[in-house]
Amino acid sequence: MALSKKDLLGLRGVPASEISEILNTAELMKVILASNNKKTPHLQGKTILTVFYENSTRTRLSFELASKYMGGVAANMSASGSSVAKGESLIDTARTLDRLASDVMILRHSMTGAPHLMAQHVKASVINAGDGTNEHPTQALLDMFTMKEKLGGISGLNVAIVGDVTHSRVARSNLWGLTTMGAKVTFAAPPTLLPPELAAAGCRVTEYVDDAVREADVVMGLRIQLERQQKGLFPTVREYHRYFGLTPERIALAKKGALVMHPGPMNRGVEISSLVADGEQSVIDEQVTNGVAVRMALLFLLTRRNVQ
Ligand code: ASP
Repeated sequence: MALSKKDLLGLRGVPASEISEILNTAELMKVILASNNKKTPHLQGKTILTVFYENSTRTRLSFELASKYMGGVAANMSASGSSVAKGESLIDTARTLDRLASDVMILRHSMTGAPHLMAQHVKASVINAGDGTNEHPTQALLDMFTMKEKLGGISGLNVAIVGDVTHSRVARSNLWGLTTMGAKVTFAAPPTLLPPELAAAGCRVTEYVDDAVREADVVMGLRIQLERQQKGLFPTVREYHRYFGLTPERIALAKKGALVMHPGPMNRGVEISSLVADGEQSVIDEQVTNGVAVRMALLFLLTRRNVQ
């Protein structure tokens, strides 16, 4: 099977069958990654461009490695520091990149909707690698892959997502993906970091982290995104850690064997303590490895679509 759309712009509206297809394909890709020879021919003759207007470590490198492992030509355009901010400039850039015969463009941008705009103007498939505070679909896919791998499935899981929900595209993509796959999502944050409209999206929201964590199968910490917020949304970092941080005492409230996750980069001692981040229940390192497998699967499925 291939994916029905040219682009992956978000998980909102993506059917469970397609999410499952990506996760199942990623399982096969993980076997290849674990072998002595990571090379496959699946992207031979294809050009994959990463176009990043915001910083990244994990996402950009894992897309680049995924492309290279599968024999594709990977190139990067780094726009940090550029003055591109207006829609028209983005469209011009997109057209130029399309003319360079790219098959897939992976875009990270601080503006919500930037990848959607780009997708309308290019023949290449566009993958959203994070747009403003809207979505980061490949992060949620690798999170779901990790849950499925460790806990045997996604349907019926209680997932507590704790931290700066307002500014988190990871939170939104997980909400859409997890609810489509039958999990229950609870968001916990101080009221200033908890958008009330989320309650209408079929999840639970609470200001009490302990309530969210109790009975959770998965506890996901979110980074406090200091670059996206005006000062004053919470009193002090120390106070934030005390009331909302993932500490060993809080994790002890979750179900036995619950997973601890974080998309990275972490603010240790703020949203998560080092004892938890490096503890037995943490799968944060595995999330990173799984990110490569999931991105290999996605590139394979999207480019396969183009040749059918
Ligand atoms: N790396 C993730 C993102 O780009 C999470 C974060 O930055 O906090 O959205």
